[in-house]
Amino acid sequence: MDVGGAVDAESILNSYDAVVLCCGAKKARDLNVPGRDANGVHFAVDYLTSVTKSLLDSKFADGRAIDAKGKNVLVIGGGDTGNDCQGTALRQGCTDLVALEMMPQLPKERAASNPWPEWPRVLKVDYGQTECMAKFGKDPRVYQTTVKEFLKDDAGNLTAAVISYLKPERDPETGRTNMVPTGEEFTYNCELAFIAAGFVGCESYVADAFGVSLTGRGCVDTDHFRTNVDKVFACGDMRRGQSLVVWGLREGRDCAAEVDRYLMGYTNL
Ligand SMILES: Cc1cc2nc3c(=O)[nH]c(=O)nc-3n(C[C@H](O)[C@H](O)[C@H](O)COP(=O)(O)OP(=O)(O)OC[C@H]3O[C@@H](n4cnc5c(N)ncnc54)[C@H](O)[C@@H]3O)c2cc1C
Repeated sequence: MDVGGAVDAESILNSYDAVVLCCGAKKARDLNVPGRDANGVHFAVDYLTSVTKSLLDSKFADGRAIDAKGKNVLVIGGGDTGNDCQGTALRQGCTDLVALEMMPQLPKERAASNPWPEWPRVLKVDYGQTECMAKFGKDPRVYQTTVKEFLKDDAGNLTAAVISYLKPERDPETGRTNMVPTGEEFTYNCELAFIAAGFVGCESYVADAFGVSLTGRGCVDTDHFRTNVDKVFACGDMRRGQSLVVWGLREGRDCAAEVDRYLMGYTNL
């Protein structure tokens, strides 16, 4: 049931006393580089969804999963989503794996400037990297890199990616540190590339259908989970941006209490 698409928002609003929007934040950040349209370049979530759906629908018999078997795979982005792409490609039987991480490698142990009880900013090794080390004897991550260009053959199929090394550089005007190209590059031959470069908010067609306003980060703007539209609430990633399961659980509970307060005038939740 595609609310805001096939299912009209108006009919939902007319049928319920309160509506909670919790559709996630799956609008992916794209890479605006030459060759982006090559066959074999996919958003990470499209790849992962195709594999899970094909598995659940038919145990892969429908052949609809994007398949990394026998292919060199490039994963762009080193978060949880990138890690899932690494693990999935390895389990499908990819022939090689490289994962690009824009930021510098974190230290193995806490730096003096990052004492307990601060969140430890240390190198994480997740199952994608562990399985890559077991299979190919290497951590797939290459730090301070990004794709400069995708190369394709005459049929439009991805053949390689030109990868730039990056260095941190402070912008004197804003004081912010940006990652900028060093001028050094290398080319990685690959047939598949998965873009896991983060998310830029919720699908705007759902927000538009309900007339709710968005923040500058593309998430639904709320005050105590209430949107600008009467009886419409929002929670989870759709409200706070791509986050963690624990926050999804917490926001669901807190939002339910606000809905209860709205409907009853008080809440015991
Ligand atoms: C690839 C990936 C890996 C992740 N790994 C981790 C991890 O290891 N640990 C962790 O804590 N978090 C992880 N996260 C984040 C975590 O999945 C989310 O923070 C969490 O699921 C958010 O919960 P949610 O309920 O807000 O949204 P979601 O879980 O995204 O749920 C949204 C639901 O709304 C449905 N929906 C969307 N649009 C519509 C519509 N128009 N009509 C009807 N239904 C709709 C979707 O089908 C979905 O079921 C990961 C996220 C991704 C994408």
